[in-house]
Amino acid sequence: MALTLETGLRTLPGVGEVRARSLARLGLATAGDLLRYFPRSYEDRTRLCAISDAPAGEMVCVCAVVAEPPRLSRIRKGLELVKVRAVDGRGAMTVTFFNQAYVKDALRTGESYVFYGKMEVQGRARQMTNPAFEPEGRQRFTGRIMPVYPLTAGVSNNLLAGLVERCLPDCAGLIPEVLPQTVREGHKLAQSEFSYQNIHFPASWEALELSRRRLIFEELFLLSCGMALLRSRRDGEQGVVCAGADLAGFWPLLPFAPTAAQRRAAEEAAADMASGRPMNRLIQGDVGSGKTAVAAACAWLACRSSLQTALMAPTEILAEQHYKSLSALLAPAGVRVGLITGGERAAEKRRVQAALAAGEIDLVVGTHALLSGGVEFHDLGLVVADEQHRFGVAQRAALAAKAGERTPHILVMSATPIPRTLALIIYGDLDVSVMDELPPGRTPVKTYLVGEDKRQRMFGFVRRLAAEGRQAYIVCPAVEERGAEESPPESGFADLKAVTVYAEQLRTEVFPDLRVAFVHGKMKSRDKEAVMSAFAAGEVDVLVSTTVIEVGVDVPNAALMIIENAERFGLSQLHQLRGRVGRGKHQSYCVLVTSTRSAESRARLRVLTGTNDGFQIAEEDLRLRGPGDFFGHRQHGLPQLHIADLAGDMGLLKEAQAAAEELLAADPGLRAPEHRPLLERVREMFSAEADIFN
Ligand code: ADP
Ligand code: MG
Repeated sequence: MALTLETGLRTLPGVGEVRARSLARLGLATAGDLLRYFPRSYEDRTRLCAISDAPAGEMVCVCAVVAEPPRLSRIRKGLELVKVRAVDGRGAMTVTFFNQAYVKDALRTGESYVFYGKMEVQGRARQMTNPAFEPEGRQRFTGRIMPVYPLTAGVSNNLLAGLVERCLPDCAGLIPEVLPQTVREGHKLAQSEFSYQNIHFPASWEALELSRRRLIFEELFLLSCGMALLRSRRDGEQGVVCAGADLAGFWPLLPFAPTAAQRRAAEEAAADMASGRPMNRLIQGDVGSGKTAVAAACAWLACRSSLQTALMAPTEILAEQHYKSLSALLAPAGVRVGLITGGERAAEKRRVQAALAAGEIDLVVGTHALLSGGVEFHDLGLVVADEQHRFGVAQRAALAAKAGERTPHILVMSATPIPRTLALIIYGDLDVSVMDELPPGRTPVKTYLVGEDKRQRMFGFVRRLAAEGRQAYIVCPAVEERGAEESPPESGFADLKAVTVYAEQLRTEVFPDLRVAFVHGKMKSRDKEAVMSAFAAGEVDVLVSTTVIEVGVDVPNAALMIIENAERFGLSQLHQLRGRVGRGKHQSYCVLVTSTRSAESRARLRVLTGTNDGFQIAEEDLRLRGPGDFFGHRQHGLPQLHIADLAGDMGLLKEAQAAAEELLAADPGLRAPEHRPLLERVREMFSAEADIFN
C-alpha cells in the first residue's frame, strides 16, 4: 500500500497503541508530520575501516565476522555483560555490550556484521563498547549519514529513523512545492522532494547542506509572506484623522511633569494620528519609564476626535490596574473609561458591552476578552497593546479588525529590548519611539548576588523591611513553567510541589509572624487575582510566587525582590522581575540567590548588580548567551519555527524577506492559482494564531 501524507503512523508496522501515544507527544500523528520533523544533528556513519586501521578514539564502521559465540555474564544485580570476539581479514576486536542481553542471541557466530562505534585501543587490544550493529548487506543505519532526532520517552532514534525511512519514498514527493520556480531559481534553492529526502537521509554532506538551505529559506519565506500579508491589510488605507493633535491640554492632567522621552514619544504618536495614515507605532521603554502616560495621551487625543480606544493588557490584574489609573487620570477630562476582562459578572459585562457599542465608553481597557465576539465598538479609532510580546501579531490585527471598515491607529508598548536587527521581523513595519529615560527621583534598585550560605541573613533582612512596613516578593522558578527546550536545572526546585513545600515552610517556620501568601501559574486566575490584590492592598507582607508575578504590576510599597535559583533566568527576564520593585519612594533591593558554582553563571548574574539599564542588559545577554534566548520562549508571538533560527540565519532571512516582498508586489493576495499551495502553507503556519487570512 502506498503511503500518503495523511497516513496515520499507527497503521505502520511496529507502531502499536503505546508507541503511537509516545509519538503523539512529539506532535507526530501522520506520515506528513514525520517528514516535517527534522533531525537535530547527524552522525557520520560513512567511514568504513579495517579493525587494525581504525584510528584510536574515533567513531567508525568496521565490517567484521563474529568469531565465537557471544558470552553473557552477570557481574552483579543490574549489570549484565555480553562479550563478543569479532575479526576481519587483518585484525580482531572485543565488542562489549552492557545490559543488552538480547545481543547474545542477535549476533550469530560466523556471520558478518557492520559495527558502528568508537574504537578503543589499549596496547595491541582493540575494542568497542555498545556499538550499533547490523548484518552486513542488510544495512539501514550504518554506512550512511544517520539522522539524530529529538526524542522522548518510549521513542528511540532507531524507531524514528526507521519510520521516516519507511515514509520517505512514498511521501517526499507529495509535499507540494511551495516555492515559485522563479524564487527557487533566483536563489539557487534545491527542489522540495530532494530536500525532504536529504534532510533526513543525506546522500552526502553537500546534499544535506543544499537541503538545509532550501528548507530554512522555505520556512523564512513562508513567515515573511505571512507577515507581509498581515501588513498589507493596512497598506494604502486611510487612517482616521485626529484633528488638532495638540497635547497641550493633556499634560496638565498628569500628576507629574512628563519626562522629555514621554513628551517625544507622545508627540510622535500624535503626529501619526493626525497624518491621515494609520499609525503603526512601537513604544519601546524600560520597565518604569512611564509608557502608560503615552498611551493615555493617545487615548485622550482619540476621545477629543470622538473616537474610541481599546487598550489590551496581557493579564487581568494588569488590565484592572490600567483601568484604575487611567480612570483617575482621564475621567476629569471627560473620558469615559470601561473595563472588560471576562472575569466580571454577566450583568456587568452586558452593561459595559452595550455602553461600548452605543459609544458611551471612550476608552475600554481589557484582556484577550476584548477579542471575543460580543465586544463591538461604536467608533474604534485606536488600538493600544501593552507588553506586546505576550500577544501574537494576529491578535493585534484581530482587535483592529473590530473597527469595521476603517483602519484604526495602532500603538504597541513593550519593555522587551530587542536588538535592532531583529526588530524588523518581529514588529514588521512599525515605527519605533524609544523611551530612554526614567522619571526623575527614582532611587535605583540595589542588587546583590548571594550564595545559599547567606540565607538566614536574607530572611533577617525581609523581617527588618517588614517591620518598616515594606513588602517583599520571593520568586522561585518551577520547572514545569519553563520552556521544554531548556535543560534540567543543576539545582533547586524540581517541580511545582517543591516550590509549594518551600512556600509552606516560609509561612509556618521562617516567617510565622508575617503574613505570607503564595501564587503560582497553575492556580485559577480568580484565586491568583485575589492574592495579588491582597498584596497590592498591603494585606500581605511576603508574596512567594513562581514566575507568574505579572509584568507591569505596580505595587510601590514593595521594596524587596528575592529571586531564588537566579541562574535559571535570562538576564533580561531578571531585569523585568526586578522592575517590580523600586516603584515607590523607598530604597528598594533585589537579591539574586544562587548556588551555582559555575564562574560563567556568576559573571553573568553580576551584570545585573552593575547596571539598571535594560538595553545594556539585553545587549550583554545577547553577547553572553547568543540570540537564541530572545526567541526561545515564543515571546514574540510569531509562529513556531521548525528548522530556521531567526537570529542565526540572518543572511537567508534577508533574502527570504526580499523574495516574499517581490512576490507579493506581483500578486498581493497570493490569489494566482500557482500560488495556492503557498497560501495554504502560510495559513497552516499561522493557524495557531487567529483565522486572519480570510
Ligand atoms: P511602564 O509601563 O513603562 O513600566 P508605568 O507607566 O507603569 O511604566 O509607570 C511607572 C510608574 O512611574 C507609575 O507609578 C507612574 O505613575 C510613574 N511615572 C510615570 N511617568 C512619570 C513621570 N514623568 N514622573 C514621575 N512619575 C512618573
Ligand atoms: Mg507598563
